[in-house]
Amino acid sequence: MKVLVINAGSSSLKYQLIDTDTEKYLLKGLCDRIGMNGGSLEQKTADGRKYGVTADMPTHKEAIEMVLSALTDKQAGAISSVSEIGAVGHRVLHSGEDFHSSVVIDDEVVRKCEKNAELGPLHMPGNIACIKSCREVMPSVPMVAVFDTTFHSTMPAKAYMYGIPYSDYEKYKVRKYGFHGTSHKFVSEEAIKYLGADSCRRLIVCHLGNGSSISAVKDGKCIDTSMGFTPLEGLIMGTRSGDIDPAAVDFLRAKLGISSEEMVQYLNKKCGMKGISEVDSDMRVLEREMATGNSKAQLAVEAAAYRIKKYVGSFAAALGGVDAIAFTGGIGENSALMRRLVMQDTEYLGVEFDFEENEKRADGIRVLSAPSSAVTVLVIPTNEELSIARETVALVNGN
Ligand code: ADP
Repeated sequence: MKVLVINAGSSSLKYQLIDTDTEKYLLKGLCDRIGMNGGSLEQKTADGRKYGVTADMPTHKEAIEMVLSALTDKQAGAISSVSEIGAVGHRVLHSGEDFHSSVVIDDEVVRKCEKNAELGPLHMPGNIACIKSCREVMPSVPMVAVFDTTFHSTMPAKAYMYGIPYSDYEKYKVRKYGFHGTSHKFVSEEAIKYLGADSCRRLIVCHLGNGSSISAVKDGKCIDTSMGFTPLEGLIMGTRSGDIDPAAVDFLRAKLGISSEEMVQYLNKKCGMKGISEVDSDMRVLEREMATGNSKAQLAVEAAAYRIKKYVGSFAAALGGVDAIAFTGGIGENSALMRRLVMQDTEYLGVEFDFEENEKRADGIRVLSAPSSAVTVLVIPTNEELSIARETVALVNGN
């Protein structure tokens, strides 16, 4: 089946057309500056044909219409008619407590997403606008919502509760939800396929990218994760602070003389490795700066790695030990330095890390631990779009 995967932000929209029989993408594209002047669409097919247009897209509906004409373009498209699209998989940020898995979209699903929009005010309006536009423009094509949060819905209450009055949790639904679920699910499934379920009963997945999170996965199900009510909690990320004393937040806000909204923006955009290094959020830049002796860049990377190491230790405790640790995401897949800093001194867990193998570059799934290691350390390239396409086909086929 050909599945159109849509990943919408507030002013941008990424898409891929995936043939789920071969699990290969046919084309990828990006619509930028939706709702602003100077909108553009860029698309590239798997065999390298490029397509680009500049045109304003006042709403997500115009963006979807542009996507459909790009998909079917005679020279640079991958299908001759929209009727070849078997289903659309929409990435949706937040399920709230309403969904525990992906769902086929109907009016009721859209209503629940609208109710949950306040939980993800930056992403949900774009997600919902795309769902509505696609249903209008392609009324006969089945659509599936794949949430960033539902993989984590198997967390027990003791893991997702914050230490706040129960009545406030009930009234306002403030709790840990977790994000990056499509990646954590994809990588967990790949790890289980690669190692076998018995060798992967207690798995820690480290998704390290611009945004980063770690999950503890027992028998394929998430039991804890580092991100929380929003994707701000947990690790020190590219520009996000991760865990911080909540009292320090208000103290800083008052000292900086900014509003609560500006403070949330500050914690999301000005902190993390960028904030500490005062250089950049990009790991490649930080590695280059470290090589020239920049001590703040070094501190930023060391602090981020130390936070990851602590979460690995605490999730090993939550799982009652660990059988496998999987690294994924731009940093997890590519930064030998970050992996080395995280895996140093983890012999206490039963890890025999292969430092030489770690430095090599290779594609696909890689093992970075010695054959005698009690814990298998892996690099597993993530593929969130394929994960969404798989979920979409499974639901459309009634599985
Ligand atoms: P996002 O969260 O936006 O999907 P990615 O998963 O693409 O982000 O990860 C982006 C991060 O991966 C950046 O910090 C980038 O520097 C880092 N990265 C990508 N390639 C490399 C590399 N070869 N070496 C070190 N870091 C890398």
